[in-house]
Amino acid sequence: MRTVYADNAATTKMSRAAIDAMLPYMDEIYGNPSSLHSAGQKAAEALTLAREKVAACLGCQPREIIFTSGGSEADNQAIMSAAASGERKGKKHIVSTAFEHHAVLHTLKALESRGFSVTLLDVHENGIVTPEEVEAAIRPDTCLVSVMYANNEIGTIQPIAEIGAVCRRMGVPFHTDAVQAVGHVKINVKEQNIDMLSLSAHKFHGPKGIGALYIRRGLVPVSIIYGGAQERGKRAGTENLPAIAGMAAALEEACASIDRNAAKLIPLRDKLIRGLSAIPHSAVNGDLTHRLPGNVSFCFEGIEGESLLLLLDAKGICASSGSACTSGSLDPSHVLLAIGRPHEVAHGSLRLTLSDENTEQDVDYMLEEIPKVIAYLRNMSPVWRDLQEGKRQYVIQ
Ligand SMILES: *Cc1c(COP(=O)(O)O)cnc(C)c1O
Repeated sequence: MRTVYADNAATTKMSRAAIDAMLPYMDEIYGNPSSLHSAGQKAAEALTLAREKVAACLGCQPREIIFTSGGSEADNQAIMSAAASGERKGKKHIVSTAFEHHAVLHTLKALESRGFSVTLLDVHENGIVTPEEVEAAIRPDTCLVSVMYANNEIGTIQPIAEIGAVCRRMGVPFHTDAVQAVGHVKINVKEQNIDMLSLSAHKFHGPKGIGALYIRRGLVPVSIIYGGAQERGKRAGTENLPAIAGMAAALEEACASIDRNAAKLIPLRDKLIRGLSAIPHSAVNGDLTHRLPGNVSFCFEGIEGESLLLLLDAKGICASSGSACTSGSLDPSHVLLAIGRPHEVAHGSLRLTLSDENTEQDVDYMLEEIPKVIAYLRNMSPVWRDLQEGKRQYVIQ
């Protein structure tokens, strides 16, 4: 049986370059970068080099990079840093969006219980937030705007440079959770007016459990992990050098391949979208052009996403119904609800996320199997029968 891994938004396979870059630091170069002896200094040099590589990919200074345990920690640290600065000035209002990753939404929830007020902007049906809406939501006491670069479920890309320009003009720090975007689309934090940016290595063929926060010079990062003076005192704990070296190598490779990968993936993505659109009562989620090169997201009326995933898995297809974080729970995706999908339709979602490892044969195989599985599930579904018999109205025409 063919196996197709189409869940690259959940995580990616490590690249050979990343693995090779890690091995020396799990073997002969094992010193602690904080040690003064030569073994430690060798490690410290590798840390410096990795920081330079990450900074070069983002267009910032190495000193503006803090290594973290991943995207979630970077999001937490960015938001907590802005909140701490805001609180000192009596500014306790934050603007964000309804379809952020939980690493952002749950951090904001925690701040609400500490007296912050949060405005979550609605997302349009196309999965895009406009700079005008951001501007309208900013108040004199706003201490942070946080808008994700690209959504992890529906793949839509936000007008980041324009939102950044609004924030710059209004004097409000701007954070973007760019975990899905880094290594996949071209980013330059200076040109795009980004003050803070979160990234995570395992979303671009690097190792899991490592990420980074870019924080513009002039903003004050606060530690969310207390301890030693690593990362210029802003993130305690002995640096995970193998992972950091792996992340830097993966990012360097991903950034050098953005155009080539997009040229390969966009036609595959669009072939999948065209093919799945032929299924009756199906709808693609999110804007078709402002979209990550590898993201395909659909809702199918009259089916249940979990059953779809299990049957697809039996056919060798690894897919997702939305975010890895909500699978296992019965709640429909907050992202699909945010773009206005009703509950019953949000339950019937499918996300296929491609990487440069996928082929046209993978796409053809999925286009062969997915319609069959959906027809099979609909055949067994009482909801589908009601729809067919006119006892219920279709939500997706
Ligand atoms: C995966 C992801 C995260 C979390 O990153 P981890 O490294 O897994 O903690 C945060 N935001 C978005 C948009 C993501 O896709």
